[in-house]
Amino acid sequence: MNAVLVLNADLGPLHRVSLRHALRMLWRQVAVVHEAEPDQAIGVFPMPKVVRLVSYVVTRWRFSGGPTWSRRGVLVRDQHRCAYCGGAAYTIDHVLPSSRGGRNTWLNTVAACGGCNQRKGDRTPAEAGMPLRYHPAVPSWAMLAKR
Ligand SMILES: [Zn+2]
Repeated sequence: MNAVLVLNADLGPLHRVSLRHALRMLWRQVAVVHEAEPDQAIGVFPMPKVVRLVSYVVTRWRFSGGPTWSRRGVLVRDQHRCAYCGGAAYTIDHVLPSSRGGRNTWLNTVAACGGCNQRKGDRTPAEAGMPLRYHPAVPSWAMLAKR
């Protein structure tokens, strides 16, 4: 569905849209194809994988430092995937455990399944030998709003 990534004019990723939506943006000339599927075209356009806005859009989170942290937000950001095993995740893990001063921030929390959460316990990923599959980031408003 949401197959096409939209980049801001400065190449900062904003959000994903459906192919139809992306094509509409191309027709309206608010965006241009930034990266295309090789050897595929849709009408006059190469099949877009990534489109880039023609003019810069000011996003709220650039100024506010991002949406307020929430457990639900972390799960949505991480698409309910465990940061350690990739399985379905319903709990939040603190990368630096809260017992050791780890805080509730976007960069210190990841979605984790119950098993991995328990296995990791009061250890860092390095201590537990459980590398993160991705690095947690501050989500954009759009990222949190779309699901
Ligand atoms: Zn897991």
